Amino acid sequence: MLFRSRNLVIVHVRTYGDDMTRPLPFDNSYLQLPERFYTRLKPTPVSRPGPIRVNRALAEQLGIDADWLASGEGTQVLAGNRIPEGAEPIATVYGGHQFGGWSPQLGDGRAILLGEVIGRDGGRYDIQLKGSGPTPYSRGGDGRAPLGPVLREYIVSEAMAALGVPTTRSLAAVTTGDPVYREVTEPGAVLTRVAKSHIRIGTFQYFFARQDIEALRLLVDHVIERHYPAAAGADNPAIALLEAVIAGQASLLAQWQLLGFIHGVMNTDNMLLSGETIDYGPCAFMDTYDPATVFSSIDRQGRYAYGNQPGIAHWNLSRLAQALMPVIHADEDQALRLAQDSLDAYPDLFHTAYRHGMASKLGLSGAATGDESLAIDLLGLMAQEQSDFTLAFRRLADLAHPASGHGVGNLFEFSVAFESWLVRWRQRIEEDLQSADDRQASMYRANPVFIPRNHLVAAAIDAAVNEADFAPFNRLVDLLEQPPDFESGLEAYARPPRPEEVVSKTFCGT
Ligand code: AMP
Ligand code: MG
Repeated sequence: MLFRSRNLVIVHVRTYGDDMTRPLPFDNSYLQLPERFYTRLKPTPVSRPGPIRVNRALAEQLGIDADWLASGEGTQVLAGNRIPEGAEPIATVYGGHQFGGWSPQLGDGRAILLGEVIGRDGGRYDIQLKGSGPTPYSRGGDGRAPLGPVLREYIVSEAMAALGVPTTRSLAAVTTGDPVYREVTEPGAVLTRVAKSHIRIGTFQYFFARQDIEALRLLVDHVIERHYPAAAGADNPAIALLEAVIAGQASLLAQWQLLGFIHGVMNTDNMLLSGETIDYGPCAFMDTYDPATVFSSIDRQGRYAYGNQPGIAHWNLSRLAQALMPVIHADEDQALRLAQDSLDAYPDLFHTAYRHGMASKLGLSGAATGDESLAIDLLGLMAQEQSDFTLAFRRLADLAHPASGHGVGNLFEFSVAFESWLVRWRQRIEEDLQSADDRQASMYRANPVFIPRNHLVAAAIDAAVNEADFAPFNRLVDLLEQPPDFESGLEAYARPPRPEEVVSKTFCGT
């Protein structure tokens, strides 16, 4: 007899041969595209797979059995040693502009797509192993990922998800038992990445460069069906697709800027049509506010500096528009005009999203003239005073409520230089129709105190790589996945780095 009771533990008997109960319920759609979109191949086995972490909450959302993922068999699958039932592993091909220079063929050089699953939300998700061995697109690389970059991606992508930023996710990380040779020898690892799809601007560019118009059409149809079904009914579906992608990127870039996130490698192969942040290489969150901040060791010109990111996204979108032209209109002049009109909307879309977000950060529910200069003047003072970006806004949230507790006051206080600005701000919030409680609650949401600070990420990686101690990594992920309210005892996760802790360079680790 089956009781419908909350207390009853219903034990599912899993027969892994049955479609309904497979631990990874694959449903693969990219394979319906012609063979020139990918290469079928299996991950290269590793010596001694070892579990690092399984993202149970994400597994649950994807309808994947988390206990199985964490089991010995699951670890073998996550390391690429065993192919789960229903998987049809492929490496996909793409091109891209890297630091402004055109590379006609890149592709998954160290990643293999196992397949797609349908999540509990009805959405389709790619399950990809990153660091799973060489592919035809490795271009001399070893196809492997060192442990450090795998942990960085895990930490930062999950933090971004918790902060509400569209992003690829980390389902699991495992060690391989094999060394990876870079400037130094590091333990190898494999990250299981989840994305709404891995289709990049560079995927379109690859086929455009070959003038493979049929492939472009198929790709447009695939992306529309998968991500932007409303575009299918538009007068010009390719333009509707372009506009949807532009809107998504404008909103994404605003979120990055408002959080102080610096991607580091905004190449066109690292920008997804789905609008999710992808490719956490030398990424980092800015501590001290400075628009010229660059972390990536390979970004010597500062092309991808914090302040350049919105403009770079616009440039990348223009590469997408160019690649879509043959599908937009048979007549090149017409196609150009339509594409240009769409692209021209980006700056306004970005600024609108940014202004809205900045208003929330400042505690304003509506807009008034003078708000823009209020924000600009605050940022100017922060640059001049070398303020911590995250804590300055967080402190403002503390100050928004007259009965507020101490908040982050021990970690950050506005200097005298901010005095007249704070008077202006107080006058402005008094005009704003919102209760102090509501204002502070929404400011706390817009001004998070816990971000994956670079020195914390570096310390977690150091302990794991040099001492095989994963406790700091696990503690950091636990905190960032479900950020608690700020309270005493958590200062170590909220404070800026001490001078000797500052990490000014990050490495792709490819
Ligand atoms: P990324 O900078 O991570 O976006 O990588 C750029 C390109 O280099 C992509 O095509 C990657 O697949 C490839 N790549 C990066 N690292 C490796 C590696 N260790 N082995 C083979 N290919 C790689
Ligand atoms: Mg990439």
